[in-house]
Amino acid sequence: MKQNDTGLISELSRLYPDAGLDLHYRNSFELLIAVILSAQCTDERVNKVTETFFRIYKTPRDILDTDIQTLEQAIRPTGFFRRKALILKECCRKLVEEFQGKIPANIDEMTSLPGVGRKTAAMVLGNAFRIEEGIAVDTHVKRVVNRLKLSVQQQPEKIEQDLMRIVPRDKWTFFSNSLIQFGRNICTARKPDCPGCPFNDWCPFPEEQSNN
Ligand code: SF4
Repeated sequence: MKQNDTGLISELSRLYPDAGLDLHYRNSFELLIAVILSAQCTDERVNKVTETFFRIYKTPRDILDTDIQTLEQAIRPTGFFRRKALILKECCRKLVEEFQGKIPANIDEMTSLPGVGRKTAAMVLGNAFRIEEGIAVDTHVKRVVNRLKLSVQQQPEKIEQDLMRIVPRDKWTFFSNSLIQFGRNICTARKPDCPGCPFNDWCPFPEEQSNN
């Protein structure tokens, strides 16, 4: 790791010592469902929906046995509800038929589930199982690492490969969780707080902006 990269991780540890997710969940099944529902939706809204949803749907079998219209209405406030209901149904079908209703604890099997890509899989594995098999690159992680030039790639999978080379494996989940917080609170999309940012002395972004 370069000095800046080491400094970045220790600074993130100082800023977000207990960096977790804002999504509410009690087990790997609930986290998987919550992450799927969080596409194009705020965590706050997902939490509101899942508060009721998880009282009714406790296992993949519960979702599989529910008709699609009922499922759609249950998740409607999260947006794109028809597509999400279909994904939930197909994902749970595979969990029931091929994994005895259990969430697989490795990235290859998890990404074989319909609607589950590396971001979702890494997030669930890292946070629900404490297994470090990838770095979840969401919109916040992508924006921040592009601005910091930790990766100049645009595709999440390629960004993840770059990050996996510079971040120690035991920090992969922490790194993603804390950058999501950092991207929400400091390095925001529209108005990053560069003057108050601890990485201001080496981040190329403020100077690039002033040259534009
Ligand atoms: S200096 Fe600005 S652009 Fe760079 S990481 Fe900090 S907030 Fe983001």
